[in-house]
Amino acid sequence: MGKCPNHSGSEIDFRCKSCERGFCLQCMDTMKGLLLCPDCRCRLAVYKMYQDHDRDLEGASY
Ligand SMILES: [Zn+2]
Ligand SMILES: [Zn+2]
Repeated sequence: MGKCPNHSGSEIDFRCKSCERGFCLQCMDTMKGLLLCPDCRCRLAVYKMYQDHDRDLEGASY
């Protein structure tokens, strides 16, 4: 299958559900049951942060 882009010594063990790139187990983490690579986890975290922020602003405008 090939080597992990982040760990050149590790074989690819899973594929990111978002960007479909291959990664090793060291890179794997489950977020709400999805297998996501570090890049996509980071994007998701930033996205969620903005969502939470918007919700706070909505609440304040009442
Ligand atoms: Zn990804
Ligand atoms: Zn890796």
